Amino acid sequence: MTRPGDAPVDVCVVGSANLDLVAAAPRLPRPGETVLAAGFAEHAGGKGLNQAVAARRAGARTAFVGAVGSDEAGQRLAAALVAAGVDTSLLATSEQPTGRALITVDERGENSIVVVPGANAAVAGATVPPARVLLTQLEIPLAAVRAALQAARAAGTTTILNPAPAASLDPALLALVDLLVPNEHELAMLGTPGELLAAGVGAVVTTLGAEGIRVTTPAGEWHQPPFTVTAVDTTAAGDACCGVLAACLALGQPLERAVRTAAAAGALATTRAGALPSLPDRAEIDALVAAQ
Ligand code: ADP
Repeated sequence: MTRPGDAPVDVCVVGSANLDLVAAAPRLPRPGETVLAAGFAEHAGGKGLNQAVAARRAGARTAFVGAVGSDEAGQRLAAALVAAGVDTSLLATSEQPTGRALITVDERGENSIVVVPGANAAVAGATVPPARVLLTQLEIPLAAVRAALQAARAAGTTTILNPAPAASLDPALLALVDLLVPNEHELAMLGTPGELLAAGVGAVVTTLGAEGIRVTTPAGEWHQPPFTVTAVDTTAAGDACCGVLAACLALGQPLERAVRTAAAAGALATTRAGALPSLPDRAEIDALVAAQ
């Protein structure tokens, strides 16, 4: 594990860490209804944690800035990050309980999710390590997102915002973003790519699920076709895509190649169940990019 004072990291992820509590039910309960689940599992999750692990597996030295509670769940999340090789020296311990996501998945793969932010509300974001790329999302307080983007911008670090979960954002915040990576639903909350570029975003990288990725820059727009895979569970496809995009840019790939690699990572993440277990490593990603 690297420590502050060592060489700067490639990617710094400022974001959420949650314990995911996943119940597999025959169908999602209606209001007031109780259903019996056929199975239950607990996993490390949260968009920030997932994206940090995705960046690390893609070969980037990665630090995670976040917060967990001083409870067993927090220890499990910290251990998952350390096991993945992510620098946790800026992972804070809060008095609030570790964040949790209560997830119900039905037999068709539909889900409903309640996130209890808990300790994630304590992420401040103002202290970020030197890095080539900073990657953040909206599962932590907006003030922390803003502080992290400002600190990174001041340090000359490339900034990436994955605006998830969907929210509208003010122009001052958008002007701090070099790459905005929404899915189509999140983009609809924010405006058109043209409006976002006019607000000062450097480029808009819209993930289109099974349709691939659309990139809009001031110089023009292009489409990255999807990689052909057999999708079994789309959980964390977006997280794989964002983490790997950050890693590739930090490792010096030009935007077009980084987007292609990120599309391959997103596709691979759909071929396995779960979040962390589905995140691909560098060798798998490179093999798929070379094969198609
Ligand atoms: P999110 O989970 O945030 O909505 P997407 O579903 O758009 O993110 O997935 C992110 C990326 O992963 C896509 O842009 C695409 O490149 C890749 N991807 C997702 N689903 C598939 C699929 N079924 N086949 C191939 N690639 C996929």
